[in-house]
Amino acid sequence: KIVLGIETSCDDTAAAVVDETGNVLGEAIHSQTEIHLKAGGIIPPVAQQLHRENIHRIVQEAVSASNLSPSDLSAIATTIKPGLALSLGVGLSFSLQLVNQLKKPFIPIHHMEAHALTIRLTNNVEFPFLVLLISGGHCLLALVQGVSDFLLLGKSLDIAPGDMFDKVARRLSLVKHPECSTMSGGKAIEHLAKQGNKLCFDLKHPMQRAKSCDFSFSGLQSNVNKLITQKEKEEGIEAGQVLSSAADIAASVQHTTARHIARTTYRAISFCQKRSLLSQTNAVLVASGGVASNMYIRKALEVVTDLTQCTLLCPPPKLCTDNGIMIAWNGIERLRAGLGILYNPEGIRYEPKCPLGLDISKEVGEAA
Ligand code: ATP
Ligand code: FE
Repeated sequence: KIVLGIETSCDDTAAAVVDETGNVLGEAIHSQTEIHLKAGGIIPPVAQQLHRENIHRIVQEAVSASNLSPSDLSAIATTIKPGLALSLGVGLSFSLQLVNQLKKPFIPIHHMEAHALTIRLTNNVEFPFLVLLISGGHCLLALVQGVSDFLLLGKSLDIAPGDMFDKVARRLSLVKHPECSTMSGGKAIEHLAKQGNKLCFDLKHPMQRAKSCDFSFSGLQSNVNKLITQKEKEEGIEAGQVLSSAADIAASVQHTTARHIARTTYRAISFCQKRSLLSQTNAVLVASGGVASNMYIRKALEVVTDLTQCTLLCPPPKLCTDNGIMIAWNGIERLRAGLGILYNPEGIRYEPKCPLGLDISKEVGEAA
């Protein structure tokens, strides 16, 4: 079995050809990040136009790198939810044309499910396992019980941690810092934090008394903003210049974030272990998404997995961010399980909003 995967849910046009054993036969990706960075955020019609300009080439590159002819494909798998409507639309209509032309089955893919199952391409991980997805656009904890069987334990009630890091980095003008001018916000914070004192500022911990597995980062963001404004006054500098206390602020915000994520993850593991949804002695926690590449946050998660006798696994960085490989792999998983394979996909629609799995976050909060 060989699947072509196509991803256009946000700002990356990506495609890959993957076989049944997880071999990546061909892959290609076009990132729009630079263009959106210049604009200060993603403008959906611009993203749509860029997907349109690149999708043909990207899919062709992935297929020709595989040295296969399109007729060798078993199916075409494409992200249809959740994501930006205009972006999803490009991938879906391109795929439907291709499916029609090649007379192949179509497998609609849920972007978050694909993120969650990626670990099974690189590691031998059996169901069930717990997954923590933390990036610029995602923040959730879910129990993965099967290829299409997810329990959503908790999610961010406001923004994602990567988004918060990006906003704080912008407020600190870290692009003007000689050491981090080319880094993403989160990476710049991690880099500077190494030179700072994490206990210098006592930032209020988000959702201190919460019993649920939900997250919140917008309160932390506005507290940091207030702190920065205060420091700018004290140091007598104007907004837009880099504070001498920037490293201490970075260390404090990273520490507070790591603690919030670790505590919430601990609650999720405990809940699952108490309910016998996860093993008491050899459960697996998968951490993925751009923020999971932060080593300070990983260390905090290791403390949690040691405490609960779990194993922490993280996909390689390339597979943590949006890519075509995870979509093709989800297609392989679905083919093997015989789930959601469409032979006549004409009526299928994309869904910009679509939660992951069965949401039991209320129950988790009440159980505690
Ligand atoms: P999506 O959420 O749709 O998967 P994304 O572009 O938001 O896509 P990623 O590419 O997975 O997500 O991750 C980018 C985010 O991760 C950015 O917000 C970035 O600041 C953050 N990030 C990257 N490296 C680090 C790091 N070392 N520490 C903390 N955050 C990081
Ligand atoms: Fe994603």
